[in-house]
Amino acid sequence: MEPIILKRADHNVSRQNMTSAAVKVLYRLKDEGYTAYVAGGGVRDLLLNRNPKDFDVATNATPEQIRKMFRNCRLVGRRFRLAHILFRGEVIETATFRAPVPEDGDDTIHCENTLQVGESGMVMRDNIFGTPEEDAMRRDFTINALFYNIADFSIIDYAGGLKDLDDKIIRVIGDPDKRFAEDPVRMIRAARFAGALGFEIEKEAYESICKNKDLLTHAAPSRMYEEVQKLFFCGHAEAVFQWLERTDLLHPMFHDFSHWIYEDKTRHEWVIQTLEQMDRWRKAGLRVHPALLFALIFGEYHEFLIQQLIDAGQTPTDAARNAIQGHLKGMCENVRVPKQVIYQVCDIMSNQSRFERTNGRRPQRFMQSRGFLDAFLYFKFSSKACNRHQELLEWWTGFRKSNPPKAPARKSRGSKKHKPEGDAPNQ
Ligand code: ATP
Ligand code: MG
Repeated sequence: MEPIILKRADHNVSRQNMTSAAVKVLYRLKDEGYTAYVAGGGVRDLLLNRNPKDFDVATNATPEQIRKMFRNCRLVGRRFRLAHILFRGEVIETATFRAPVPEDGDDTIHCENTLQVGESGMVMRDNIFGTPEEDAMRRDFTINALFYNIADFSIIDYAGGLKDLDDKIIRVIGDPDKRFAEDPVRMIRAARFAGALGFEIEKEAYESICKNKDLLTHAAPSRMYEEVQKLFFCGHAEAVFQWLERTDLLHPMFHDFSHWIYEDKTRHEWVIQTLEQMDRWRKAGLRVHPALLFALIFGEYHEFLIQQLIDAGQTPTDAARNAIQGHLKGMCENVRVPKQVIYQVCDIMSNQSRFERTNGRRPQRFMQSRGFLDAFLYFKFSSKACNRHQELLEWWTGFRKSNPPKAPARKSRGSKKHKPEGDAPNQ
């Protein structure tokens, strides 16, 4: 099929809005005689005058050829072999054009460098190279299948993405039922893009999600964890959540929790307030780490579970640990929350009772402990959300002001990694 090609004069995508690392990679590939495109989200976001999160490059050079071209390159991925080209503070993911899933889709396990289709049509492995057109057509949505060609600065559109960008539509490439069966995670990606971009999900795709939502339980839990974080860290968590509710994707993602929140309107309200807070932090350029995210979103649910265990005779500390581990580990069947994150959520919650003790040296010791800031952010949020502990909150706010944290003796380079866009939210 002939693509639509938008010449440089007819679009707004400029190299000046790309990172110098991305431009370097594109030119190096081009100068070595290869085709080099920016692909996916980078092109979409630049066309929408948004700031792309990162730039992915697609090329006809093979991973080995790419590796030889760039000293700062490593090949990664078991599922797809692709090149990560490392620059200071930035990784340019560079992938060879990939071929689509074969039509027959039988359950044959092919040999290395081919593809494996498991039960229910899910793609287990694909690593075969293809043409630019094939590469475009194997992507998830039309708006994610646009290329920017460094050779003549044109936009190449094989899938109708330009029109869908204009019309603000998330449209699946190909048959939605089939594409969601291949990779169920695409369903929550649709909700994310619709929420984050303020687009509608095209009718057929929307109906397909509603029908196929339970396929999500087949998705790899580690991928689900990554996508769940993207849902809530994208800066439009509240809008994304509304799409998860409209499509009922929330149910297969967070089974028990999704039942619980609809039993009482105030429970739902807590979640919405959490998401608004996440979006505010994001807009202020602050990044919340996953443990605080999970502590906040599930906060009221965890408090409910903890109270049940306390009523059954457990100590508050045991109850917090058992309730939270029980819930988050149970969720692991769908969304694999790393153990470390689960322990941090437990700490945030079991530290809450320490805010009630304001005598002696305890507050000072608590404030100097590692988990204080996250615990305080939770305490502050929950005090406001539930209109409780107002006096305690005032006391702690005053105490923090009159006891500002001492500057660390030496700045550890590694410690900034978790909070790359500024300090922890600290309001
Ligand atoms: P973001 O702004 O969140 O980075 P993105 O569109 O760049 O959005 P990525 O997850 O970075 O999303 O993926 C890069 C590109 O790879 C997508 O634009 C899409 O073309 C393709 N892609 C990603 N995930 C899938 C998938 N599950 N199925 C098909 N194509 C995918
Ligand atoms: Mg991206």
